[in-house]
Amino acid sequence: MLKDYKGACHIHTEYSDGSIRISDVITSAQITGLDFVILSDHNTFLPKYDGWEGWHDNLLVIIGMEVSPRREGHFLALDTRPFTDNYDDSQKYRDMTSRDCLDDVVNNGGAAFIVHPFGKRKISFSIVLEAWRHWEHNGFVGIEIWSYLHDWIDDLKLSNLWHFYKHPNLQIKGPDPKLLSLWDRLGQKRKVVGISGLDAHYRKIPFAKRPFFTYEELFKTIRTHVLIDRELVKSNEAIRFICDAHKEGRCYVSFDLLADATGFNFVADSGDRIYYMGDEVFNIKKKIHFSIKSPHQATIKLLRNGKIYKECEGTSLESLSTKKGVFRVEAYIENRPWVFTNPIYVR
Ligand SMILES: [Zn+2]
Ligand SMILES: [Zn+2]
Repeated sequence: MLKDYKGACHIHTEYSDGSIRISDVITSAQITGLDFVILSDHNTFLPKYDGWEGWHDNLLVIIGMEVSPRREGHFLALDTRPFTDNYDDSQKYRDMTSRDCLDDVVNNGGAAFIVHPFGKRKISFSIVLEAWRHWEHNGFVGIEIWSYLHDWIDDLKLSNLWHFYKHPNLQIKGPDPKLLSLWDRLGQKRKVVGISGLDAHYRKIPFAKRPFFTYEELFKTIRTHVLIDRELVKSNEAIRFICDAHKEGRCYVSFDLLADATGFNFVADSGDRIYYMGDEVFNIKKKIHFSIKSPHQATIKLLRNGKIYKECEGTSLESLSTKKGVFRVEAYIENRPWVFTNPIYVR
């Protein structure tokens, strides 16, 4: 039985353009009951060199980096070796192409996850983020399939700003269907992991008492749950287990504000082996038995290559298949998007 650990990813601090100290991020994550956070300041590993990575009571802090070249697509670099002996060359990626950055991270043993893959243009809010353009490059491990900030900001206008500020969670619609469709297509060629992000910055706004989102509020929303075959003990090895689960796709994304998804389970049984999220099944002669268990009543959808294969209302779904394809699960609570698992790939 795999253990389920929940965490928040894609978080900025005062080490780049966030306006919050890491110590406050840690306190907020601890209050919210997260098991881990993955920080991702722009183009810098300084938090790692400053000793923030590791255990802080029951919270594991992992220092990633958002590689953010100017006027190019961005990605999260995880588990990469420090790229130089001189720890203060943190801005080296700013003037490279994202393709060269990706090569560099891969050559340093790192894992890259494309963030806000379709970019974002909100001229009235001075937001211009470039889309990822190098889909043919096989160097990235995964993509951010659901980002709180980018979901929230999608329909934001000056005219509804106050409403969005007062009721941020009502604006959360779920992963962009076009992005899910791209993910399904990529997955038919090779494994591409889906993770969540917050893109948390703690931006203050003039004349308002509180920022758009406090970190404590954000940490209750969209999380990545990783599945690990052991109890995490307080050693640095735990960082490896969390990073490996992200790289292998042994994880799912959920909007835990609706209900804590801990325990959500999606497995495939080939008769002689159990396969988990992120696993690839090759040359299966017999039927595969898919089994989904949910800790809460939900509309559960098993998808094959992006199309609904079987759907039901309840806390479990069972299905048999002899077909190849990318099988993944979506679950909804009262029509609101809740859980998006990584696929099991039947090749
Ligand atoms: Zn970015
Ligand atoms: Zn970011």
